[in-house]
Amino acid sequence: MRRAETDYLIIGAGTTGLAFADTLVTETDAHVTLVDRHGKPGGHWNDAYGFVTLHQPSAFYGVASMELGSGLLDPVGLNRGMAELASGAEVCGYFDRVMNHRLLPSGRVAYHPLCNYLGDREGGGEFESLVSGERTLLTVRRKIVDARFFSPAVPSTHTRAFTVAGGARVVPPNALPGLWQLQREGPLPRRFVVLGAGKTAMDACIWLLQSGTPADAITWVVPRDSWVVNRLGTQNGPAFFHEAIGGQADQMQAFAEATSIEDLYLRLEACGSMLRIDRSRMPTMFHLATLSEAEVAVLRGIRDVVRLGRVKAIDGAGLQLEQGRVAVEPGALYIDCTASAIRFEPACPVFQKGRIVVQMLRAPHVSLSAALTAYVEAHVADEAQQNHLCHPVPFPMKLADYPLTMAVNMRNQQAWSQDATLRQWIRQCRLDAFGRLLSGVDKADAEKQAALARLKQQGLAAAANLPRLLKAAADA
Ligand SMILES: Cc1cc2nc3c(=O)[nH]c(=O)nc-3n(C[C@H](O)[C@H](O)[C@H](O)COP(=O)(O)OP(=O)(O)OC[C@H]3O[C@@H](n4cnc5c(N)ncnc54)[C@H](O)[C@@H]3O)c2cc1C
Repeated sequence: MRRAETDYLIIGAGTTGLAFADTLVTETDAHVTLVDRHGKPGGHWNDAYGFVTLHQPSAFYGVASMELGSGLLDPVGLNRGMAELASGAEVCGYFDRVMNHRLLPSGRVAYHPLCNYLGDREGGGEFESLVSGERTLLTVRRKIVDARFFSPAVPSTHTRAFTVAGGARVVPPNALPGLWQLQREGPLPRRFVVLGAGKTAMDACIWLLQSGTPADAITWVVPRDSWVVNRLGTQNGPAFFHEAIGGQADQMQAFAEATSIEDLYLRLEACGSMLRIDRSRMPTMFHLATLSEAEVAVLRGIRDVVRLGRVKAIDGAGLQLEQGRVAVEPGALYIDCTASAIRFEPACPVFQKGRIVVQMLRAPHVSLSAALTAYVEAHVADEAQQNHLCHPVPFPMKLADYPLTMAVNMRNQQAWSQDATLRQWIRQCRLDAFGRLLSGVDKADAEKQAALARLKQQGLAAAANLPRLLKAAADA
């Protein structure tokens, strides 16, 4: 057994672990050890399909000390005119640079890839190398940081909840860009059956359509319709002041005036903050998936949408779903997008004795949340105060959960605004592009000042109406 020492042991070198490590290295002189079973930094991005991108601008993502992307707007495509979205390959390359140009050269970071964390031990933790089998007992002088809370499941690594028989071809979306290779096995598929209704399935459908697949060659199995965030409202930078600040104020107004959960979503749609693919149906799911209006328009072109619940079994003749059977022509290619990117773990205190469990502090900004947690660890000594500043924001599991997500978001924002040092740090943090937009407004710019005043006014009105929406959610 090898023995080593560190101040902080971080389990997981995905976005969360890296964003935490980066800020901790900046703000303290602590020694940090990262342990991860993946062979490279970046967590689930290493397993993603080739055409994956961020949902939201690159400017909000990654670690605080290093820019991600070029800051340019996309000149072509379905995200045209909006801030670029890093591809999965870019995110992986970025995290490689974070590790090799930033964390390791600090001389205060040890990184152990291809290592399974085996568990906590008295005074530290133990991990095992997947390649040598060697075990290491790590003495932890300060804290163990659990950066596995989100750990989204992705199609290439998840366990399917349906059976496959009769020679049916089922692939993860990772296989699509390499479709040409199937020529070696026989005729190429002429029907594509996309399984799942989350962001991955939306991406797969869009990718197929954009690659020339006729819309009537796609069957889309949609267990639940989803509300999606309109990406226009997530833009950063002064060019998008109206969309970002005005859009935020519109959103607050919807929260302020809504009388029920359904009314809330319809108001968010009416003000352009939310979109739905099929306007004749009331969605029953909202997991913060984000699309552009152009992407939604493309998805509306798919007409063969199967709404019979989740897939139970696939065989040579078709699909067995929860609520019925659908015949599918032989030779179809099934694209498995059923992995749930969201793990619905109950929240727990972020700061515990000798331990930090990194969670969402501002939805949906995972990177800012992790960096802010490290900042609080570095500068706030008292555990109760640390938890006061870092209240976990619950992910909306059901439609009715969104008011609670918003309420805790606002509660945290309020707590941060009362701490002058933290407020200052957030203002300059690259991961809070929205905050920078707010603080950069010229005092003499009457139009922008009016927009800020409206945002403040609607924010207060939303806060006043949240108890009513929380009650409606509880009743629902
Ligand atoms: C396709 C996709 C697109 C997304 N786009 C955005 C976006 O645009 N903006 C945004 O804010 N969020 C986005 N998200 C959400 C967010 O990026 C992810 O939730 C985030 O990357 C999660 O990072 P993580 O570090 O928490 O988890 P992971 O990336 O899963 O990292 C956890 C790490 O822990 C390691 N690990 C787990 N258990 C052990 C163990 N026992 N021993 C050793 N190692 C272990 C794993 O190997 C993994 O590397 C997206 C998510 C997905 C799936």
